[in-house]
Amino acid sequence: MATKKCAVCGKEKQLSEMSKSYPTRCKECVAEYTRLVRQRANNQQEETLAPAEPHIDWEQRRYEIAKAIYPEIIKATHPRDAERVGNTTVLFADVLIKALKGEPEQEKMGKM
Ligand SMILES: [Zn+2]
Repeated sequence: MATKKCAVCGKEKQLSEMSKSYPTRCKECVAEYTRLVRQRANNQQEETLAPAEPHIDWEQRRYEIAKAIYPEIIKATHPRDAERVGNTTVLFADVLIKALKGEPEQEKMGKM
C-alpha cells in the first residue's frame, strides 16, 4: 500500500489519510492547524481591547525560507529523490518557523 510522509508530523500515512488541500500534510495535521487558526480568530475577537501584536505573515516567511534553502538541498540530491526533497524542504522551513515562534520542537528533532 502506498504511503506518504506528512511534512508536518513526519509520520508515514496512507494516501487516503493525506489532505487533498495540502498534499504534503496529513488530514490530522490539517485539522489541528485549522483548529488553531479558528481558536486564534476567536481569541482575537474576544481580546479586542488587548494591544494588537505586530502582524507576521508566517506562511509568507515559510515560503521564503523554503525558497532560500531549496537550491542548497537540491544541489546535494539525485533527481529521483526530488519529491522527497520538496517535502524535506518544507519540513525544514516548518521547523524553523516553529523555532522562530518559540514553540518547542524536540520531538521532531529527535527523529531526524
Ligand atoms: Zn501529519
